[in-house]
Amino acid sequence: MINVTKTYLPNREKYKNYIDQIFDSGWITNNGEFTRELTNRLARYLGVKNLLLVSNGTLALQVAYKLLGLKGDVITTPFSFVATTSSLVWEGLNPIFVDIDMNSFNMDPQKIEVRITEATSSIVPVHVFGNPCNVEAIGDIAKKHKISVIYDAAHAFDVKYKDGSVLNYGDVSILSFHATKTFHTIEGGALIINDDELFEKAKWMINFGIQGPSKIVGLGINAKMNEFQAAMGLCLLDDIEYLNQERKTRHNRYLQALQDIRSIRFPARNPDGSDNHSYFPVVFETESILLDIIEDLKYVDIFPRRYFHPSLESLNYLAPQEAPISSDISKRILCLPLFSELDDVNQERIINIVRQRTS
Ligand SMILES: *Cc1c(COP(=O)(O)O)cnc(C)c1O
Repeated sequence: MINVTKTYLPNREKYKNYIDQIFDSGWITNNGEFTRELTNRLARYLGVKNLLLVSNGTLALQVAYKLLGLKGDVITTPFSFVATTSSLVWEGLNPIFVDIDMNSFNMDPQKIEVRITEATSSIVPVHVFGNPCNVEAIGDIAKKHKISVIYDAAHAFDVKYKDGSVLNYGDVSILSFHATKTFHTIEGGALIINDDELFEKAKWMINFGIQGPSKIVGLGINAKMNEFQAAMGLCLLDDIEYLNQERKTRHNRYLQALQDIRSIRFPARNPDGSDNHSYFPVVFETESILLDIIEDLKYVDIFPRRYFHPSLESLNYLAPQEAPISSDISKRILCLPLFSELDDVNQERIINIVRQRTS
């Protein structure tokens, strides 16, 4: 059975060696040695100043909302994984959807300003499929209206924009290290926080509001990463160049084999951004072609994912809003299986099925 992605597991002996060390020390959570080591290595590897590891990406979003004091309305994108919206609602915030750009599938900056009111406290865009948003335009709008920007960068591990990491834009960016992501810690995530004071605040916020050994300095939650998660991250980080290369090879193979088909298209990448080849999204002419392809693939035990479907403005716990482009793209987009261990035979199978239904 082939799924859209397959969790990469590192060398078993290497992970066991870390587990042995955790057992020997008896220190299994609360900012342990491996969590500190992973923090330093990741910050250096990604090219960011302040990185805080947390237990998952959704909590990273929730902590970011609290950290920046979000209230009332928050502008966000309808084309994302459900957590971008559900975390807002969970925190009592009101998502206001700005439709996506027809080509990049990221929030369209030209449609943001008309949605900003007195009640707007922040913008939460997503670098969908690791494709950088128009960060300058979004930054200018936020500055003009004195509101914050929190990037859901769950797909943007290792993505560069111009000279540095895309994670350095906005007030805060969050990462997810869930098992399905390109870099994982089983479950996990991180906050990248530009402001040093906010960074210090976030450290106690993820630890019940406790600073130092026992002083409670404010309202907090438990969002700490544990040592078993951090050890997995340290193993993965050793293999990251190899994993990136293997995905890139398969990504380019799809592109080569499918790019001449005139009835399908791919998201337009931001020319100033790098590509981490984390997903291979394809947009078909109609939803019925997409459903036929899913059926054909299922028949040979291959299960792509409808990333992202449905468009989030249609969630049953929200008051009705419109996002026609996102709604349309969501119905016609499919992410083909892409991971380092995808073998040639299965990739050929996928390519042939897509070609048969579209050419
Ligand atoms: C995976 C993902 C999340 C949630 O991260 P978890 O670590 O699974 O909680 C949030 N936003 C986006 C865009 C994601 O893809």
